[in-house]
Amino acid sequence: MDLFSPADAPAAVALRERSDIDNRYKWDLASIFPDWSAWEVAYAELDGRISEFARLQGTLSSGSDRLLAALELRDVIGQLSYKVWYFASLRYDEDQRDNDINAKRQQVQILFAKAAQASAWFDPELLAIPLATVQEWLDGSAKLATYRFAVEDLYRQQEHVLDDKGEHLLSLSSRFSSAPYDAYAALSTADLKSPTLTLPSGVSATLTYGQYRALLATNRSQADRAAAFTAFHETFEANTNTYAALYNAILQRDWFYAQARGYQTMLEAALHGNNIPTAVVDNLVAQTKAGAAPLQRYHRLRRRVLGLDTYHTYDSAIPLVEIDEKYPYDEVLDWLPRSVEPLGVEYQKQMREILAGRCVDVYENKGKRSGAYSAPVYGCPPFMLLNYNDTLDAVFTLAHEMGHSMHTVLAHAHQPFVYASYTIFVAEVPSTLSEALFLRFMLERTTDPRQRIVLLQHAIDGIVGTFYTQVMFADFELQAHRLVEEGKPITADVLGDIYFGLLKGYSGEAIDYDQQSRITWARIPHFYGTPYYVYQYATCYASSAEILKQILAAPESERPAAVQRYLSLLRAGGSDHPMTLLQRAGVDLGRPETVQAVVQQLDQLVTQLEDAIEKL
Ligand SMILES: [Zn+2]
Repeated sequence: MDLFSPADAPAAVALRERSDIDNRYKWDLASIFPDWSAWEVAYAELDGRISEFARLQGTLSSGSDRLLAALELRDVIGQLSYKVWYFASLRYDEDQRDNDINAKRQQVQILFAKAAQASAWFDPELLAIPLATVQEWLDGSAKLATYRFAVEDLYRQQEHVLDDKGEHLLSLSSRFSSAPYDAYAALSTADLKSPTLTLPSGVSATLTYGQYRALLATNRSQADRAAAFTAFHETFEANTNTYAALYNAILQRDWFYAQARGYQTMLEAALHGNNIPTAVVDNLVAQTKAGAAPLQRYHRLRRRVLGLDTYHTYDSAIPLVEIDEKYPYDEVLDWLPRSVEPLGVEYQKQMREILAGRCVDVYENKGKRSGAYSAPVYGCPPFMLLNYNDTLDAVFTLAHEMGHSMHTVLAHAHQPFVYASYTIFVAEVPSTLSEALFLRFMLERTTDPRQRIVLLQHAIDGIVGTFYTQVMFADFELQAHRLVEEGKPITADVLGDIYFGLLKGYSGEAIDYDQQSRITWARIPHFYGTPYYVYQYATCYASSAEILKQILAAPESERPAAVQRYLSLLRAGGSDHPMTLLQRAGVDLGRPETVQAVVQQLDQLVTQLEDAIEKL
């Protein structure tokens, strides 16, 4: 076993050329454009439409038909943009060594910059018209009424926009507002000296973050893991005061903007765009903290199964058992639609169509982009890029991306272009629900206790990583932001105390703590790059757990209605604020019960894991 390869790395096989892969496993982009010359024609049309839009400046106040004309042209530009961008971008991802295609992709980016300039007049010109006037127009035209939510939401967002002088002043600050993040990125990556050490087992290791993670997930010697943990954290401890100063700069910057725009708190400012009440985050944090018992039970179970006298944070990634099970793509193709049987025959049929329709780019080839995604192209089926390698992780990635793709299919089929895309706040609901249904399917057909343990650990680690850890991070952000709002100092000691306190609050007595965990906050890129963002992973997870509970609920008579509510959520795309859409799907993130649905899910999974281990 190669200790330093990622935990989910495929066996080292020589990479194939794309041309050596059967067409059946490659996407067919002809539904976007048949060839590059058709793309060129569309590119030229898009360019022309962008100029046409610029010429509409100054017309909006003339009446409702002028506003409608501008909104419709904006939709035409949007739809063309999707096709022109994705054709170049998806072709590029097939083989990123191709410079000609890369040049075409960049050509689209340049055109997009032009489009942004050519349409910059639109929002201010619309907002200069009184809302009451625009609402009269919306009432008077069925075609214009389609845009009601988009238009009214623009006015709502206007609440915290300053006058011209204020906005100009704020815009001048943009040149230096990214400085603390840039400095963090340089300190934690470009300038970071990854430690090289000889582990107690005698193996030498250089610990980049990726290699450190891989070591914790594969190295069965606790002494090795402990040594790696110490060496890795020392690199951050060496600059602890610098990290604290940079994070303080991020907090002070955001407090400056929040106050300048008239928000009470930074959380309120962060949630205003999606119209989310701040109580959602408070509820999430409070209920998760109160529901830490199954997490602690899982840690204690791991300690026992792994036969460890002491159990540390660096012991939490090692698999409980190893199996060498392969999941060939052609087999999984049948399992996936069967796994979503609770969502109905029509849903299964649509999923089969995607899987059979050459929308999936399955295998890795020379030059292909890594990772996985689902690309929504309005007017075409969703295209999925995978790097499928027959592992369990690859199957769950497919199930995850399939959830995104089905969301796209249903939203596109039921929404006009303006509402066809959805926000991150709902995006991870169908992807996580799709994974949960797949897990359920696999558990039902698996009798081998070792395989059950692997499946259950996969699911539990998913909840720990995308739910508990993210809520703990959100909790950290809340506490740090509040100190700044109260005018209190932010130092390395203060941040270390918050983080260490949270770690103990969530994991209780189940972990033997190392003083070095105090510094872990310093490494988390989201804290510096996208403050108050990670909570959305957790709210999506909670929403999906609550929906799943309703769909699989007893009594059976209530299930069809729950399925319909869920499908309505997918069909709704971005036609309303995410909280409203979720409420219609039967999910209220302001209620304790919604968050408790994840706690219950984890509790059941840990019980199932205990049973499977018992049987071994
Ligand atoms: Zn996703």
